Amino acid sequence: MVRENEIRSGEVAVEWPVSTDAGVIFIGRIHTPWTSRLECPRQGRLDGPVCRIELFAPWHKGLAGIEEYERLEVLYWLHRSRRDLVLQSPRNDGITRGTFSLRSPVRPNPIGTALVKRVAIEGSNILVQGLDCLDGTPLLDIKPDRCAFTPLAPPQPGDEQTA
Ligand code: SAM
Repeated sequence: MVRENEIRSGEVAVEWPVSTDAGVIFIGRIHTPWTSRLECPRQGRLDGPVCRIELFAPWHKGLAGIEEYERLEVLYWLHRSRRDLVLQSPRNDGITRGTFSLRSPVRPNPIGTALVKRVAIEGSNILVQGLDCLDGTPLLDIKPDRCAFTPLAPPQPGDEQTA
């Protein structure tokens, strides 16, 4: 959705609360080829351009073990989004929908997520494919796409009993 402060037909903005509940910290910055929302893809592709995730100090040690995972989930802060729309009318069809039924960057907490492919690790930088954010987008988190310690499923009725 390409917008700065426009309100489209059917859209509703809410009053912004005075206080906030939690503080997030930006742990890095994402470098991509896109400087305008007009050219930025709506969703990333695993065969898309290689982008660079730069991790800031003091978080570098947090990358230990990441080489075990080829697929990573990246969370980022869509910092140029407005945050106050509760109803939105996306440009592609103009149909008004609730914010939580859309993956629009316009949301009260503008968190974007993408499942990416790790291409390389260069010191405190990870090169990946699959992103869809503007150059300079703040980084919130990186996780493997699956857990390193998969919990054992509890026994289910009908499971075979072993002596
Ligand atoms: N893949 C993420 C998700 O599903 O949560 C983000 C999807 S969102 C539709 C991607 C769009 O957000 C891009 O096409 C661009 O228009 C917009 N966008 C990307 N980076 C942004 C940023 N830093 N601030 C505001 N909007 C951004």
